[in-house]
Amino acid sequence: MLVVVCVKQVPDTTQVQIDPVTNTLIREGVPFIVNPYDTHAVEEALKLKDHFGFRVAAISMGPPNAEATLRKALALGVDRAILLSDRAFGGADTLATSKVLAAAIELLAQEEEVGVVICGKQTIDGDTAQVGPGIATRLDFCQLTLVDRVEELDLSQRKIRVRRKLEGRHEEVEAPLPVLLTVVRELNRPRYPSVSMRLDAADAQVELWDNSVLQLDVNSIGLKGSPTWVSRIFSPQRSLGEMLGDGVSDPEGAAQLLIDKMLEKDLLAL
Ligand SMILES: Cc1cc2nc3c(=O)[nH]c(=O)nc-3n(C[C@H](O)[C@H](O)[C@H](O)COP(=O)(O)OP(=O)(O)OC[C@H]3O[C@@H](n4cnc5c(N)ncnc54)[C@H](O)[C@@H]3O)c2cc1C
Repeated sequence: MLVVVCVKQVPDTTQVQIDPVTNTLIREGVPFIVNPYDTHAVEEALKLKDHFGFRVAAISMGPPNAEATLRKALALGVDRAILLSDRAFGGADTLATSKVLAAAIELLAQEEEVGVVICGKQTIDGDTAQVGPGIATRLDFCQLTLVDRVEELDLSQRKIRVRRKLEGRHEEVEAPLPVLLTVVRELNRPRYPSVSMRLDAADAQVELWDNSVLQLDVNSIGLKGSPTWVSRIFSPQRSLGEMLGDGVSDPEGAAQLLIDKMLEKDLLAL
C-alpha cells in the first residue's frame, strides 16, 4: 500500500513583505521552507511506513526550485518524490491545484494501491485549507480534517480511526480506506534527518512530472483553470482605538457614551 503525502514550498512568512504598488508578496530573496503543517504530514506518513511497512511518496506542485522541499522529505525517509512542475500549472488557485495533485495521485494508484493521502491542515501563505478537501472530493476518498491523533489503522477491516481537534473539544471518527487526512501540529514531533540520509537524499532522484505525463486539459489547470484570484493583499491596519472617559471617575457616563456610539454605528439594537 502506498501513502501519499502532499508538501508545499512556502516563503518563510516571518520575512515576507508586501509590494505597496502591486499588493503582491515580494518573493525575491525570501527564503523558502516546507509548509510547517506538511512536516507533520510527512512524519505521520513515515510513522505508518515504520509500523506497517507501507511505501511513501511525497508530491509537490510548484516551480523547479520546489525540488528542495522534496529532497528534505527524501532525507527523512520517503521512498519516492515527485515534483509536478509545468508552466501550464502556474497561477493555480485551490481548485486547479487540487486537480493536478489528484491527477498525480490517480496516476500513482495505477502502479500501487493508495490507501492514505496526508496533507497539512493549511499552508502559511495561501491559508485556504481547501486543497486537501479538494483532492479528496476529486478522488472520491473520505476526508478526515484537522487530525491530531491517528488512533488506529485496521488493515483487515480497511478502516482508520482518528481524533480531530476542534475548537474547545475533540472528536473521534472512523472512516473506510482509502482516506485523506489533513493534519495539525499537535499530531506528532517531526523527526530530524540523519547525516547519512541527508547525503543520500542529495543524490536521490526527484521525478519530474509535467503535463505531458498528467495529460490534463490546459484550460482546466493553472491560471486558465482558476476561477478565483487574489485581487488585493494587505496587512490589517490596527487603529489605536478610542478611550471613553479616564477609566476611573465616571464609569456610568463612559458606559452610556459607549452605548450611544454603538447605537450610532448600528452595532446595538434596543
Ligand atoms: C497570499 C495568498 C492568498 C491566496 N488566496 C487564495 C484564495 O483565496 N483562493 C484560492 O483559490 N487560491 C488562493 N491562493 C492561491 C493558493 O495558495 C494556491 O492555489 C495554492 O496552490 C494552494 O492553496 P493554499 O496554499 O491555500 O493551500 P491549502 O489548501 O491551505 O493547503 C492545504 C494542504 O494542501 C497541500 N498543498 C497545497 N498546495 C500544494 C502544492 N502546491 N503542492 C503539494 N501540496 C499542496 C499541503 O499538504 C497543504 O498543507 C492564494 C495564494 C496566496 C500566496
